[in-house]
Amino acid sequence: MRIDLHVHSRASDGTLSPADLVRAARAADLDLLALTDHDTVAGLAEAGEEAARAGLRLLPGVEISCAMDGVSLHLLAYGADPSDPELATELARCRDDRVPRAQEMVRRLAAAGHPVTWSMVADLAGEGTVGRPHVADALVRVGAVPDREAAFAQLLRPEGSFYVRHHAAPAADAVRMVRRAGGVPVFAHPGAARRGPTVDDEAVARLAEAGLFALEVDHPDHDRPTRAHLRGLAAELGLQVTGASDFHGSGRAQRLGSETTHPDVLEALLAEVGR
Ligand code: AMP
Ligand code: FE
Ligand code: FE
Ligand code: ZN
Repeated sequence: MRIDLHVHSRASDGTLSPADLVRAARAADLDLLALTDHDTVAGLAEAGEEAARAGLRLLPGVEISCAMDGVSLHLLAYGADPSDPELATELARCRDDRVPRAQEMVRRLAAAGHPVTWSMVADLAGEGTVGRPHVADALVRVGAVPDREAAFAQLLRPEGSFYVRHHAAPAADAVRMVRRAGGVPVFAHPGAARRGPTVDDEAVARLAEAGLFALEVDHPDHDRPTRAHLRGLAAELGLQVTGASDFHGSGRAQRLGSETTHPDVLEALLAEVGR
């Protein structure tokens, strides 16, 4: 059984529609896919319909923008009730605040001579949760950089002068909120240092205390030593370990199902949904 628990569609910053994503997952020999768009559940209905047709299991998910100790981090939530008012309000707040944030990034880039505009970025984001990948796509469109990766490396890193923060929930509060909504919280790519600063082990312990289920250890942005360390930390804290591709479609190297989760872990996760 092949399980990929972290992928993005055009409902956020992926490049495939939810239905195309499900078809691609089937073609990649996956049995179960969790759609985890940033701060939105808007793609789940379409993905669910296609999954039923394609004979693929779809686990509803979402990747929530959080912060802890001044560091931005991502919390995956599986099986949470999307109509939970507290969760819905938090996701809407994240999405709404991403608009003025992206506008400010565009303003700074334009002021520095990169001919990008907000309407270009809004057009590229479409109905999806707007984020830096769409700003990156605009920079590609105007020829400032060759691809998304280069845009991040050269212009969009959190340490850079074009970066602007957006609203993000305190991570421990988000863990408890996901549990209250019947969902199972997993710390996404906790050691992805090449994306920016990460939190320390003590912070992970606080999230475990708050009700975290697992660490996403097997992730394309984690090297071998990072995985070994995180596996040890998970064991120490009594957390499960997941793996996933964080597939975003074209524009980034990782493939669907490039990293997977063990079926026993999926079973343990599903046993905690709705509890
Ligand atoms: P945002 O939430 O708007 O700050 O954008 C974060 C998103 O940018 C992540 O979810 C990734 O999809 C993408 N991202 C982050 N770092 C990189 C990178 N180095 N190369 C390509 N995409 C990246
Ligand atoms: Fe993303
Ligand atoms: Fe993420
Ligand atoms: Zn992701």
